[in-house]
Amino acid sequence: MAGVSRLQYTTETRLIRVMCSGRVDLEFVLRAFSNGMDGVLIGGCRLNECNYVTHGNYHALTMALLCKRIMEHIGVNPERLRIEFMSSAEGNRFAEVMGEFGNNVKGLGPLGKGKGEGIDQNELKSKLGEIRKLVPYIKLVKNEKLASHLVNPEEYDKLFTKDEIDKLFSEVISYYIDPEKCQACMTCAKRCPVEAIISAKNQIHVIDQEKCIKCGTCFEVCPPRFGAVTKISGEPVPPPLPEEKRTIVRKKKE
Ligand code: SF4
Ligand code: SF4
Repeated sequence: MAGVSRLQYTTETRLIRVMCSGRVDLEFVLRAFSNGMDGVLIGGCRLNECNYVTHGNYHALTMALLCKRIMEHIGVNPERLRIEFMSSAEGNRFAEVMGEFGNNVKGLGPLGKGKGEGIDQNELKSKLGEIRKLVPYIKLVKNEKLASHLVNPEEYDKLFTKDEIDKLFSEVISYYIDPEKCQACMTCAKRCPVEAIISAKNQIHVIDQEKCIKCGTCFEVCPPRFGAVTKISGEPVPPPLPEEKRTIVRKKKE
């Protein structure tokens, strides 16, 4: 409507259209910052006026609230992210919000160099990279809260707390296959959703930590009689067993 009505708003923006604000994933926002954007504005339909039964705008809201806390955690001013709900007929409102947000972001300065930020660009990029790798894990752990339908704006600040997010990152779970226990039954490798388990017949299995999204499936499916997958919280994962030591020599039956 803003375009049809020839309304003016800041030109320092890139518009990305999605079918629903609920489609805006946490990863998209973090990727925008990784790519050097100084601010991200999410525009969604008014709450309770979603065109879909899923009420995607409520999901967008909880995701934005979570993302703001994550931004705080890594030292980025959370005001660089804003979510606004408006109807497609509110062209004036859209132009007003775009102008206002554009000015606010300009006031904050370049990403990482704004008030209270002062983060080295390389450090910021590496922090954002680390967090982006954890997005599936974060969404899994915070699944219940992310599904909340917040009716009262007073609830927004309380949904995710600073301590909770600090704890989330200090106690990140990793999964590790104990080479002493793995019997190469291949169950975990068949069930891993992202093919993160290096698997071969009669070879001790190894988790590729770079690919692992920490879904915990391998932990759940490893047969209890082997119990080879362990959960590690907030500690480094032991190095992978060298390839030449992975073969399992089975005793022949007498
Ligand atoms: S935790 Fe999930 S993603 Fe990671 S290795 Fe296990 S099954 Fe694969
Ligand atoms: S399910 Fe357990 S025993 Fe089987 S290959 Fe995976 S880690 Fe090894």
